[in-house]
Amino acid sequence: MSPRRIGRRFATLVAGAATVLSLGLANPAPAAAEVVNATVCYNTSQAGPYAGIADQAASIWNNYTNNLTMSKCGSNLMIYYTTGGGSYAVRRSLGNGYVVIDTAQAQQYAPLRIMTHEIGHILGLPDNYNGQCQLLMSGGSAGTGCTNPYPASAEAAQVDRNFGGFGAAGAQVFRDSWPALATIG
Ligand SMILES: [Zn+2]
Repeated sequence: MSPRRIGRRFATLVAGAATVLSLGLANPAPAAAEVVNATVCYNTSQAGPYAGIADQAASIWNNYTNNLTMSKCGSNLMIYYTTGGGSYAVRRSLGNGYVVIDTAQAQQYAPLRIMTHEIGHILGLPDNYNGQCQLLMSGGSAGTGCTNPYPASAEAAQVDRNFGGFGAAGAQVFRDSWPALATIG
């Protein structure tokens, strides 16, 4: 093989490598985020004595998130109360559904913690009954002495991802466990 012929083969290989390289550098299309209505309109007309608590809970969620605004602009989220049967949340879809506060549970546990927890379900969070009071979604597992009404940073970040279009939160019912204190005597 003559030196000139080797040189030509080398030039062909380099040109081929350059073609592969340019294909690899082509910009991929950015992943399209699902469009989510980032405003949750809540309604306290049926919340009775817990209307003010719901407003406080909405303020907490607004303060702890960037992609979510809770406002009294409609009834995507209804707040109800009952006596007995337990507090629970019914999520129809992300940001849509209703919350029921059990007045009996709200006498043993901090009502604002119950409210922010139940609303957390509507915002796409699951239960995490691990007993840690710094978590909101640990709910009643943290005991009646835990009054923390604030989401942990990871919980707030998950809500932000949900409302940024990067979380899945379908229809689900959360029948919550806020265990009653043992009756003495
Ligand atoms: Zn729960």
